[in-house]
Amino acid sequence: MQDELHTNRAGNGSSAQPVASLQSVYKHFENIEALQGINLALFPGEIVALLGPNGAGKTTALNVLLGRRHPDRGEARLFGEDPRKPEVRRWIGATPQEISFPPTLTIAEIIDLVRVHYPEPLARLEVLKRFGLTGLEQRQAGGLSGGQRRRLAIALAFVGNPRVVFLDEPTTGLDVEARRELWQVLRSYASGGGLVLLTTHYLEEIEELADRVVVLHHGSVLIEGSVDAIKACVGLKQIRFSAPALPSLPNVARIVEENQRYCLYAIDADAVVRELVRQGCEFRGLEVLPTSLEDAFLVLTGDEH
Ligand code: ATP
Repeated sequence: MQDELHTNRAGNGSSAQPVASLQSVYKHFENIEALQGINLALFPGEIVALLGPNGAGKTTALNVLLGRRHPDRGEARLFGEDPRKPEVRRWIGATPQEISFPPTLTIAEIIDLVRVHYPEPLARLEVLKRFGLTGLEQRQAGGLSGGQRRRLAIALAFVGNPRVVFLDEPTTGLDVEARRELWQVLRSYASGGGLVLLTTHYLEEIEELADRVVVLHHGSVLIEGSVDAIKACVGLKQIRFSAPALPSLPNVARIVEENQRYCLYAIDADAVVRELVRQGCEFRGLEVLPTSLEDAFLVLTGDEH
């Protein structure tokens, strides 16, 4: 498992050079240490999820990688160069967390406006099709629904035919179907060699999509590895059952109760079940389940209570 954790290689095992990296990057804002010596290396063909509680430094890390913020110390590299260089930025696409468009421009006009900034943009029709915007091209941005606006913002990240896309909470506000469609687009982009770095608060999205997860906490990398490696590192199991009351139990990390249905988190589920039996607990509907990424995340960041 340790081999899977802290790995700095692409999921396919290649030893390619990173297309984007942060080396010992520090960034502060007034008295806030937003990034505290972050190292990150991102490789072609990967989907990497940047996770962390609010304020952990995810957006700041993205902004440093994108050349929008300059590190106080350390170095950011895109294709081996300073990300502030315009010629480097031509090959990246990004979707910010907050999006707004000129309300009177149509979708077609907005796409064309972005296309002209890139040397080898995708055809407008291709962009519309890929992001489920076909038929909406003459719609003014001011008349789009929240989900349509979000799809347009994501589409614009891909318009320049980038080799790397940075997506800050891309699926916020998308319905389930649109979210799944976007996952498919991202998978197919990565399988063609593109690199995706995304932040999200939807942990289910990461379980579905990410080859690698980097958990930030207080501006540092807390842990890094595959979804399974991170879950295994936490090593908790869920023990679920209904019971009229819960006896006092040792070695249980967390207890959640709703209407006499309990969910216990423990490393040794067998021992907990044996203890329930020993104490004569009248449990029903017992299930022992692996930990979700969400549980692992809460335990890792110490926010589980
Ligand atoms: P969220 O999940 O809420 O989007 P995040 O992990 O993206 O959070 P950042 O936006 O990178 O976190 O912020 C990291 C820390 O730096 C926070 O404490 C934030 O308040 C602070 N910060 C970020 N940008 C600025 C700024 N321009 N001025 C002052 N403080 C800032």
